[in-house]
Amino acid sequence: MGYLTGFMDYNRKDNQTRDPIERIRDWEEYSIRMEEDEFKRQGARCMDCATPFCHTGIEFDQSYLGCPVNNFIPEWNELVSDGDWKHALERLEETNNFPEFTGRVCPAPCEGSCTLAINDDPVAIKSIENEIIERGFENGWVEANPPAHRTGKKVAVIGSGPAGLAAADQLNHHGHEVTVYERDDRPGGLLMYGIPNMKLEKETIERRLNVLKEEGIQFECNVEVGVDITEAELRKQHDAIIVCTGAQAPRDVPADNRESKGIHFAMDYLKESTKALETDPDTASIHARGKNVIVIGGGDTGADCVATALRQECKRVVQFGKHPASPEDRTDDNPWPLFPMTFKLDYGYEESLKAYDEDPRKYEILTQSFDTDPNGNVVSLKTIGVEKVEEDGKLVTVEIDDSEQEWEVDLVLVAIGFTGPEKEVLDHFGLKLDERGRVWTVDGTEDYSTNQDAVFAAGDARRGQSLVVWAIREGREVAEQCHKYLVDEKETSFQAI
Ligand SMILES: Cc1cc2nc3c(=O)[nH]c(=O)nc-3n(C[C@H](O)[C@H](O)[C@H](O)COP(=O)(O)OP(=O)(O)OC[C@H]3O[C@@H](n4cnc5c(N)ncnc54)[C@H](O)[C@@H]3O)c2cc1C
Ligand code: SF4
Repeated sequence: MGYLTGFMDYNRKDNQTRDPIERIRDWEEYSIRMEEDEFKRQGARCMDCATPFCHTGIEFDQSYLGCPVNNFIPEWNELVSDGDWKHALERLEETNNFPEFTGRVCPAPCEGSCTLAINDDPVAIKSIENEIIERGFENGWVEANPPAHRTGKKVAVIGSGPAGLAAADQLNHHGHEVTVYERDDRPGGLLMYGIPNMKLEKETIERRLNVLKEEGIQFECNVEVGVDITEAELRKQHDAIIVCTGAQAPRDVPADNRESKGIHFAMDYLKESTKALETDPDTASIHARGKNVIVIGGGDTGADCVATALRQECKRVVQFGKHPASPEDRTDDNPWPLFPMTFKLDYGYEESLKAYDEDPRKYEILTQSFDTDPNGNVVSLKTIGVEKVEEDGKLVTVEIDDSEQEWEVDLVLVAIGFTGPEKEVLDHFGLKLDERGRVWTVDGTEDYSTNQDAVFAAGDARRGQSLVVWAIREGREVAEQCHKYLVDEKETSFQAI
């Protein structure tokens, strides 16, 4: 603890955001970094409490607390308050392969578990993390560091999202030769083609990919495993395989006339919009310009659709959620240090409020049917209000009488989540699935082996749609298990089939 009374002397300050009206005119990141002296003050707010819950990363009672990669947060807070950015970076890199991703997009469960948050604003941990890594790149401290020795063992990682990248990074540093297979044209998974540029500019991903490539990791893009290359071919070329294929099978809305033109899955929309930015944003095949847009689904994917539609100059955008608005404060069943399930004004909602004088979120509403014009284009949709009531001791959602509404619409984006991993590649490997359709692994949490010899799984494919930081944690853990397998097994236990 560098400064004993910092938590009393300084108020929390966080990275600022650009003016909402200005930022919806471009696709650049909305966050602005603070000055160095401010970061030093923010680091000095850390109390270095005896039990740093911020660092724990524990799943508990269907919630979780603390940083899932167990970042040494109090240590780097102190180093930052002393202006010792280089040592702060060294400690940060010990636990997190990609702080530039989490420093931008992590919902920061660490801050919800910060001891200061019991009766004050938490330490600005996420902004500090981002600043450490940005200064690391700016000062040339983040550089390629290929392994001194190669083991001769080869690993195939399927999928290049944060789980696959973290696994590849760890195994490469153990000296194994790693090839990452990716069906998209660019590596990054949902970092590249899910999370929009406003939250995470794609140059930030490329910057990291260049380091990984210089360190010796091979990337094979435009290769769909199970289609362009078979399991047998992969097994011939590698000693172990790690499946990190995500959980991107979209959940559909069960409403009449769903097949009408103008209704798309959110992921198709977000991916097309991001791809178009490589050339001309106006060339996106699904575009919101001048349209009434309705986003079905109240979660984060829907929020990214709202922000994207605003940048494409939609006429109006609203977002339907079936749950009530979150409470302003923690409820009794969501105490500190659990992740706070409280009301937040995400960046897209703030932009809509400023630009259209409207929070786009409509709560407790269910879509029933779509109506079309004679050409099959969606022109309106009907909804009904819902509420949660207790029945036989359980909360159930029921429709409210006379609450039907009709909404004019030109573009509908379905963002009601994901049913789990896409099955094709999992079936191709003969992988056993759990009761929720995720890749089954031994004992659930700490063991990443599947039912197939020398095949491991990690990330969303194993845990279902989650967070970047959990994907990094799983990537790190699966790599350690795979490494142990490779060095323990002098003769790899499977041969070419
Ligand atoms: C729109 C959206 C926004 C999000 N925003 C945030 C956020 O702000 N913060 C946050 O923490 N989390 C966010 N998430 C969640 C986060 O992105 C995921 O939890 C995380 O990316 C999962 O990482 P992963 O590596 O397991 O899988 P993914 O990132 O899904 O990567 C899986 C990769 O495998 C590839 N693949 C699949 N099958 C094959 C095959 N057969 N052959 C080759 N390649 C294959 C896919 O193309 C993909 O690139 C968001 C998710 C979405 C959908
Ligand atoms: S990775 Fe997320 S939880 Fe961990 S310190 Fe960074 S912002 Fe906090």
